[in-house]
Amino acid sequence: MSQSDCLFCGLYAEGDHVRKGDGFAAVRDINPKAPTHLLVIPERHVDTFRDVSEFPPDEAKRMLEFVADTASDAGLEDYRVIVNVGPGGGQTVFHLHWHVLGGTSTLAGFE
Ligand code: AMP
Ligand code: ZN
Repeated sequence: MSQSDCLFCGLYAEGDHVRKGDGFAAVRDINPKAPTHLLVIPERHVDTFRDVSEFPPDEAKRMLEFVADTASDAGLEDYRVIVNVGPGGGQTVFHLHWHVLGGTSTLAGFE
């Protein structure tokens, strides 16, 4: 399931996790774009959101719940969830992940 040359497979296996369990981990983004900027990384290696159908339905549901619970555990009520898809969509790491952005400047540049 994990790919030895994948940054986020490595980060899932041994990273500084804010939260972990059930096949998912949350870490702080190394280059935060908001006061709170977390990444949710599934254990299952899927290159991109385009291939989200590779997740079994129950796992896909648990992934969404993990994103919501990560935000809630971080004390966020209002926040943004972003998935960059492909290089043209800003994706730089090709292991599907969810950005959770919250805090005062969360909407900067998007209003
Ligand atoms: P994306 O551009 O959507 O593929 O997101 C990749 C994100 O991973 C960027 O926001 C990076 O700042 C972040 N990132 C890259 N390397 C690391 C790392 N070692 N630990 C935490 N975040 C990272
Ligand atoms: Zn991977």
